[in-house]
Amino acid sequence: MLIDIERKYNIASYLYCILLLIFMNIIITGASKGIGYAIAEIFAANGHHLYLTSKTESALQKAVSTLQHQYPSVVIDSFPADLSVKSEVSDFSKWCLERTTPDILINNAGNFVPGRLQDEADGQLEQQLNTNLFSAYHLTRALLPSMLATGAGHIFNICSIASLNAYENGGSYSISKFALLGFSKNLRLELKDSGIKVTAVCPGAVFTNSWAGSGVDPKRIMEANDIAKMIYTATQLSPQAVVEDIVMRPQLGDL
Ligand code: NAP
Repeated sequence: MLIDIERKYNIASYLYCILLLIFMNIIITGASKGIGYAIAEIFAANGHHLYLTSKTESALQKAVSTLQHQYPSVVIDSFPADLSVKSEVSDFSKWCLERTTPDILINNAGNFVPGRLQDEADGQLEQQLNTNLFSAYHLTRALLPSMLATGAGHIFNICSIASLNAYENGGSYSISKFALLGFSKNLRLELKDSGIKVTAVCPGAVFTNSWAGSGVDPKRIMEANDIAKMIYTATQLSPQAVVEDIVMRPQLGDL
């Protein structure tokens, strides 16, 4: 009996490893720059097919043409959408499902608007929730039926260390990232038996556009590629293992 179970697990692991050697379909939001672009690049470098979105069409097209030039054999398709708007999330999800069955969804699009709860602009909480939480919530719900039908897959939600602790000048951003972590944890619980893995990624400071012009030394904080490498590695495990949380900080600690 024990040997039977072991054999079944070995066969499942073997098939899973074969699958990893074949290309996977990767959907990445906020892929035109920063962490999202670095994630797109590492999956393209490993031969996987990419379905990318971000808000500004010109920046997205530039990212796609740079990646396509570097990795000509990989399918890279893109669709610009403002994911803070529910109808545009719906347009993007329909576009994805017409082209592919998602294997990996990376909810990365987001923006950081600093502020204090006591005096940040009116409407800031709504803007931050729409961009950082509802984008991921609506897109995941739209793509899930297709992933559930295949009985495998992986969803990453790019949260933040501002999801874990109060964050200086974090204001509504921190509220939205706490909520995204809550979304991620509940999704993980719900999908435990479905074969779909869920990983919450909580990075500290990463040198991207958000930090350009801040005067911070790029060597003091992490590189976008550090986050991409951890995400890629988390996709390489056996089907019976999931990395639930990735918490990463600059070696010298938070700023
Ligand atoms: P970034 O360089 O500013 O890139 C953000 C990406 O998200 C861009 O492609 C942007 O497209 C897209 N985006 C923003 N709002 C959008 C919207 N409403 N609809 C569609 N796309 C939208 O930022 P990043 O630093 O790489 O951050 C990526 C993620 O990591 C965010 O969720 C951020 O909160 C999180 N994070 C960042 C850090 C950090 O220190 N950098 C730390 C922890 C967590 P457009 O430019 O066209 O708007």
